[in-house]
Amino acid sequence: MITSEIIKKKRNGHELSKGEIQNLISDFTKGLTPDYQMSAFLMATYFKGMTPNETLELTKAMLHSGSMVDTSSINGFKSDKHSTGGVGDKTSLILGPIVAACGIYVPMISGRGLGHTGGTLDKLESITGFNTQLNLNDFVRLTKENGLCFIGQTKEICPADKKMYALRDVTATVESLPLICASIMSKKLAEGIDGLVLDVKFGSGAFMKTFESAKALALALKSIGEGYGKKVTALLTGMDQPLGRFAGNGFEAFECLEILENKTFLGADGYDLYADTRELSLQLSAEMIFQSGKYLTLEDSYNAAKWAVESGEALKKFKAMCISQGGDLGKIQMAKEKLVLRASSSGFLNSMDVEKIGIAGIQVRAGRKQTSDVLDLSSGIEFHKKIGDPITKGDPIYTIFCDRLHESAEAAILLNESYLISQNPISEKPKLIRERLA
Ligand code: URA
Repeated sequence: MITSEIIKKKRNGHELSKGEIQNLISDFTKGLTPDYQMSAFLMATYFKGMTPNETLELTKAMLHSGSMVDTSSINGFKSDKHSTGGVGDKTSLILGPIVAACGIYVPMISGRGLGHTGGTLDKLESITGFNTQLNLNDFVRLTKENGLCFIGQTKEICPADKKMYALRDVTATVESLPLICASIMSKKLAEGIDGLVLDVKFGSGAFMKTFESAKALALALKSIGEGYGKKVTALLTGMDQPLGRFAGNGFEAFECLEILENKTFLGADGYDLYADTRELSLQLSAEMIFQSGKYLTLEDSYNAAKWAVESGEALKKFKAMCISQGGDLGKIQMAKEKLVLRASSSGFLNSMDVEKIGIAGIQVRAGRKQTSDVLDLSSGIEFHKKIGDPITKGDPIYTIFCDRLHESAEAAILLNESYLISQNPISEKPKLIRERLA
């Protein structure tokens, strides 16, 4: 097959055949198709889109560009969660142990943070010694032993995605529905799971800014997973404010540990600043447990998830995973120096520009602009208020934690511009979960 003819067919808006897609991806993975041709194909796809069938074939071709994890020796339901990402989005570290404590296996292959959103691997590596770079044999062994194991993508898993994502990043072709779907689902399907729960976020801190675009992505992801015979449920969740009390790797790991230890943290307004992180983690856990068929109702599955936290069983699972993967929970990296940012007027917290908050996180090296950037896993931002809260002039809104004060000062400029105080109360607080697609 001639690669330029495949590119031309896509450029002209025609549907590619299974063979054409397979050929293109296989040649690119082997290094037979140069980056400039793949870049042209990606741009053609960005503009012309793909039919559901083409997206499924692209996912398949990317999945088979490498190997799949052989989980057949794990006797039980295997489940995972994928989030499209946000600021303070740390639920994986809580739901993995909860679901494992309920007898469901969680073999999770996660990514690093990029741009304003964080990544599970960085959060885990803030636990001193935690090794996310295990081989696939150890991954399966530890999943069997502990009920859960979290690792990073290995060179065997979807090598086509690794190469394609790097090109998309520099050719402005990330924001394409079929390319996003194939990228996410090829990696998740390679884990050898039976069920997948999707947390598809919308709002100012999400990849998808509107509810409608997030729903379209959720439906497309779900249809690919179901095409593979997997159980897939999606929750459409709000990212118009950061999740929980902290953003920043070590601080997020600390928040997760506190929640698994059944702790609350009451803010100045008297409510628990861990409440939204805990609730979303429980709801996502309930969906994963319900998919396994262990309980007849979602409500019973939710109660099982709650039990796992309240009984300390989920904490035991988290500790077992940390010990097996070398992490010392007594040594979570958290910066000591802090800078408190206070409200300059009174009123009500009306809105937050969550992407700007994420970029402030990059200023203190809690996040990366480029994949090659080195993070400071100890930096973070604490959120003292939620949208709708009453504010008195001088109230703390954010605390920046970073051991380099000049970086905190740069982040402060962005953070001070990232929220709006109104004189009137807001009519409705943002919903944590807007819709469930089962
Ligand atoms: N996450 C991925 O893994 N791939 C994408 O294309 C977008 C988000």
